Amino acid sequence: MSEIYDAIIIGGGHNGLTHAAYLARAGKKVLVLERRHIVGGAAVTEEIYPGFKYSACSYVVSLLRPEVIRELNLANFGLAIVPLDSTFTPLPEGNYLARWGDHDKTRREIMRHSPVDAEAYEQFGKLMHQLAMMVKPILATVPPDVTSLHPRELFKLLSLARHFRKSGGRLLYHMTKLMTMSSADFLSEWFETEVLKATMSASGIIGTFLGPRSPGTAYVLLHHYVGEIDATFRSWGWVRGGMGNVSQSIAASAQRHGAEIRTRAAVARVLVKSGKVAGGRALPFRSGICKRRDEH
Ligand SMILES: Cc1cc2nc3c(=O)[nH]c(=O)nc-3n(C[C@H](O)[C@H](O)[C@H](O)COP(=O)(O)OP(=O)(O)OC[C@H]3O[C@@H](n4cnc5c(N)ncnc54)[C@H](O)[C@@H]3O)c2cc1C
Repeated sequence: MSEIYDAIIIGGGHNGLTHAAYLARAGKKVLVLERRHIVGGAAVTEEIYPGFKYSACSYVVSLLRPEVIRELNLANFGLAIVPLDSTFTPLPEGNYLARWGDHDKTRREIMRHSPVDAEAYEQFGKLMHQLAMMVKPILATVPPDVTSLHPRELFKLLSLARHFRKSGGRLLYHMTKLMTMSSADFLSEWFETEVLKATMSASGIIGTFLGPRSPGTAYVLLHHYVGEIDATFRSWGWVRGGMGNVSQSIAASAQRHGAEIRTRAAVARVLVKSGKVAGGRALPFRSGICKRRDEH
């Protein structure tokens, strides 16, 4: 079996599916090969115990870009996001720390633990918002190829340097700290309350397989200030039906535009011809070779 495609996407995680949907929308013949029985990767809903469905890995959404939701028409394919209003950290002696969507309510709650931290939380929030605004414009841009001397790539690199320079020394200083420090160390420079630091540190390690004292995790904290839901910055939400519905809605959008999605189709080898990707070889249980169109 040999079939011809413009693009073959290895892995049906929500990023692969998004690529498939955009390429299919652009009129390309697209194939997604996913090794599991279900698409979604880490954004997946699975019935772990009979009768109970879980977001098996990632569990909250905020970073899915609004333009992707809009352009792929995801609401029409079943995506519904419910705002996540609060978090709650219980303490052994019966006390707790709650954080709310309402900033002033959270401030009053932190004040119960430490008036110093309540004030610092205000300043911290402002700084993180400024840093988030600094990185936001580059989220949807194609990164420059730093190995290329092509004028187009050099220009992109120069524009990026200009963008960061324009932000000023103070923000660059904090950005450098954020990019290099651990979330525990970074937060300890701002706050004294252990439960607040612990709760916020958790945001720095999600999905990283690192601990809160690992360098680099401070940057992950910024994710919690970059996202948005329905034009509300910093807000996070639950997906109705679990995170799998993010992936399922993108998959449905991709399929509506003609993309083909195969599950239980692990790619064993990428076929390369004259230094260019020519296709992929699936594992035996889904035999066959898929070829890229320009290699036919
Ligand atoms: C524990 C955890 C919690 C997280 N929580 C959140 C959260 O709450 N909110 C959030 O926004 N982000 C969260 N993240 C991060 C987010 O889930 C990931 O960044 C995102 O899912 C990555 O998507 P992806 O499509 O790039 O890759 P993946 O989701 O990893 O998908 C890759 C896909 O490729 C398939 N694949 C791999 N190799 C092959 C092959 N050879 N052939 C065919 N298929 C192959 C895999 O089976 C998989 O389906 C979390 C991550 C983890 C690990």
